[in-house]
Amino acid sequence: MIELSIDGVKTRVEEGATVLDAARTMGIVIPTLCHYPGLSNYGECRVCMVEVKGKKSSLEASCTMPVEPGLEIVTNSPRVRKARKMVVELLLSACPKSKKLQDLAAAMGVNQVRFKIKEKNCILCGRCVRYCEEQMQSGGIGFIGRGTGRKVGTAFGEMPKECRHCGGCEWVCPVCEQACNANSLVNGICGGCLNLAVVETCPVCVKCSEAVGPRGHKTY
Ligand code: SF4
Ligand code: SF4
Repeated sequence: MIELSIDGVKTRVEEGATVLDAARTMGIVIPTLCHYPGLSNYGECRVCMVEVKGKKSSLEASCTMPVEPGLEIVTNSPRVRKARKMVVELLLSACPKSKKLQDLAAAMGVNQVRFKIKEKNCILCGRCVRYCEEQMQSGGIGFIGRGTGRKVGTAFGEMPKECRHCGGCEWVCPVCEQACNANSLVNGICGGCLNLAVVETCPVCVKCSEAVGPRGHKTY
């Protein structure tokens, strides 16, 4: 067993667990996007960042960081919150119609997107690619291209013969999951579900890292 401290509380978890696993066993809420149960960890979206304390503290993706003896992790410091908000803003600039992202933004108190909006309908989280490969053993889809041209696709843009038509790639996609169709984006943020309302703090706040939305306690 490995002993580490998360948010000032010591815990012991099995070797091989990630910091995200350890935090979740303690009931600590860390938002995730590219992480998906049953799929390998990817660490691409960076929304699950936590602060690793030490001589030089650093921000790390908790879903890919293995636990180590003596680690001191902070999951909800101002630095962590600021970094996560920046990530969500960036992702929203690529997928402003994703309800999942808009909800995440609302829960975190993001009320504007300062990046240029270029709708891509994909945040390159790789859930679909990993699902296809790891669960369906198909490999019909994959990443194509580099840099800003990187996208998910099939070889030569054709229906792959390996595809088993399971629909899983769409099912696991956090962007396809539910489209925001309120059509009322203001600075990249949709106000259709009262997302622009001020994020409140719980009157009995114990700094659990959950966010309280305008309609009561809400987790992301
Ligand atoms: S529908 Fe085809 S491409 Fe999509 S996950 Fe299933 S096998 Fe892969
Ligand atoms: S299509 Fe969806 S699941 Fe696949 S990488 Fe893009 S956002 Fe992720």
